Amino acid sequence: MSHAHLAVVGGGQLARMMQQPAIALGLRIRLLAEGPDVSAAQVIADSIIGDHTVLADLEAVAEGVGVVTFDHEHVPPEHLRALADAGHAPRPGPHALLYAQDKGEMRARLTGLGTPCPRWAFVETPGDLAAFGFPAVVKATRGGYDGKGVWVVREAAEAAEAFASGARLIAEELVDFRRELSAQVARRPNGEVVAYPVVESRQAGGVCAEVVSPAPDLDAALASEAADLAERIAAELDVVGMLAVELFETADGRLLVNELAMRPHNTGHWSIDGAVTSQFENHLRAVMDLPLGPADPLAPWSVMVNVLGGAVTDLDAQLPVVLGDVPHAKVHLYGKAVKPGRKVGHVTVVGDDLADVLADARRAAALLTVGSPA
Ligand code: ADP
Repeated sequence: MSHAHLAVVGGGQLARMMQQPAIALGLRIRLLAEGPDVSAAQVIADSIIGDHTVLADLEAVAEGVGVVTFDHEHVPPEHLRALADAGHAPRPGPHALLYAQDKGEMRARLTGLGTPCPRWAFVETPGDLAAFGFPAVVKATRGGYDGKGVWVVREAAEAAEAFASGARLIAEELVDFRRELSAQVARRPNGEVVAYPVVESRQAGGVCAEVVSPAPDLDAALASEAADLAERIAAELDVVGMLAVELFETADGRLLVNELAMRPHNTGHWSIDGAVTSQFENHLRAVMDLPLGPADPLAPWSVMVNVLGGAVTDLDAQLPVVLGDVPHAKVHLYGKAVKPGRKVGHVTVVGDDLADVLADARRAAALLTVGSPA
């Protein structure tokens, strides 16, 4: 068995994209993958097949390795504590990761820190929800992603599915937001932080569709408030690695925290091609306790558009088409089977003119999604 520098739990595209800077830095990753051919297992030779909810499998991937980091936030906290007790360093640690795993814990902690959040409450019964008021956004505290476990509820009857799910629930006010922003920072164990430009993230059907960096026309004071918020949350929660703070910019110019992600995040994929140091490299540097790299942009604008499974089912066949049509688009494919709506890749274009960059990035993504430059 090779001498790995770090273990990564979860074989999705985030782990896959960590491998590129790991190659450059000479860091050997040992992967715990869900199967032999999942996205990251295709590119990381030292892959163990196993289940992130099984402690023995986590112990196997961590054997002889100091640092353990993650492709996702679903490793049970008690297993993370067991790894820590056995002398490994899960980064971020279980005390931090909890706030990315559980939306109720996150809301309670952020409220305690005085961080601006939507009005919220735990709701156990339809009566609790009625007392909270409508419209509301009801969320499962655990296990949701990409809009799953989130219900917009305008009247009591619409909450039936949420209550039937059996999940622990919170209700939030339905925020009338202008747009969604994301503030990302990388943080080392010693507290060193680097903040990325604050970006605008545009969702379709609860899934991130495109990201513009930096957020166009963002008030400078609001941008620094967002970055400060992310730095403060990272410090207060003792996050190590990348932290993404998803924010709402309200119609009246305030920031509210939506949720936290403690790993590289879809809203930071632009940084692979658009920043001096990508979020994946800084995640590795942070968890390995190495000096962080600058997060400055390489060009005035970067636009990332997700490739979500659509009419195009054979991405290989479309590759020459997109590369020929938009040669300067940076295409990232994740090696995943195309299924409707599934994130199977992304495209980034960087440049000086936002309208051009946006048009080219959308065109390239459309060629990989619908098969024509929609
Ligand atoms: P997930 O964990 O699935 O990403 P989120 O909590 O981020 O769930 O919610 C998904 C999307 O639902 C958000 O990106 C946003 O568009 C919308 N949303 C979430 N909470 C609210 C809210 N309180 N008010 C208005 N829209 C919301």
